[in-house]
Amino acid sequence: MVITSLDFLQPGRQQGFLQVPYSHNLGGWANVMVPITTVARGKGPTVLVLGGNHGDEYQGQIAIMNLARELRPEQITGRVILIPSLNLPAARAATRLSPLDGMNMNRAFPGDPEGAVTSQVAHYLSTVLFPMSDVVIDIHSGGRSMEFVPCAHMHLVENRDQRARMFAAMLAWNTDFAFIYADIAGKGLLPVEAENQGKLVVTTELGGGEAIPASVHRIAQSGLRNVLIHVGLLKGREQTRASLGKAPAILTQALEREDYLLAPESGIFEIAIDLGAKVKRGQTVGFIHHLERPDRAPGKIIAQTAGYLVTMRAPCLTQQGDCVAVIAQQVSAKAVLNA
Ligand SMILES: [Zn+2]
Repeated sequence: MVITSLDFLQPGRQQGFLQVPYSHNLGGWANVMVPITTVARGKGPTVLVLGGNHGDEYQGQIAIMNLARELRPEQITGRVILIPSLNLPAARAATRLSPLDGMNMNRAFPGDPEGAVTSQVAHYLSTVLFPMSDVVIDIHSGGRSMEFVPCAHMHLVENRDQRARMFAAMLAWNTDFAFIYADIAGKGLLPVEAENQGKLVVTTELGGGEAIPASVHRIAQSGLRNVLIHVGLLKGREQTRASLGKAPAILTQALEREDYLLAPESGIFEIAIDLGAKVKRGQTVGFIHHLERPDRAPGKIIAQTAGYLVTMRAPCLTQQGDCVAVIAQQVSAKAVLNA
């Protein structure tokens, strides 16, 4: 059962914690304390901003920590709830999954009030924070396992009005690529629960790996602010790619299983094309080398579809079944909005 000292109805700034009971060998009555900030003033949307859903994805965590320190009530109309490191134990450990219970926060929804720490946090979001929110922003990157072209992304939700609002907010991040994705690895995702509750959901994959370039931090921080302006929370003038002097975002989608290329065997992965490059169907995207049999020709990873390489595996060491590359096809806005 998650508790907090914050009063979500109170105007102004509040800094506190979501507290989750966690009894361990050296702390029988201990709590996991997840930092949370709220800033509220007047009428307007409630926006929930989440980072660290996966602990090793720090771009969003840093952007939200900066925003949480800087934001003043007079800069907004409405309410913003900021949680930089949703899976705090994982963020501390630089891991994707929680070291406390082995759980993936992004497969734990809708959660369980009596479950493991991760399940309890998920349940609190599903039953308390999502219902009070109009907009849910969940900032991801590839973490240690994947490297993405920095992009905002979304699911093709059934409701056309919700889809159109999510589409516009996705583009407001002003990334070079926007990406429509499918869930090929399980259920229980945070954004799906928020989408099912009818929320305007904005998600991202802002690069990945462990060395985050300054340019990617800038995309995380400027994009987040622009989306907050776009949804009517933060005062200021909304920037578009046109107003920034940039070409329109390349709109891509990977909705079929064959767009997600898995390693057919274990080995050392070599990517053969650059992230964001165009790929033809049948093109060799990468190789799997055999450490113990270097005399054997490496196995080829072949593109099954044409499109852009939007993400690649970050570590070279690869197990059979790891996702090593995703090829996303270019689509038109019309096709996305009417699909
Ligand atoms: Zn993630």
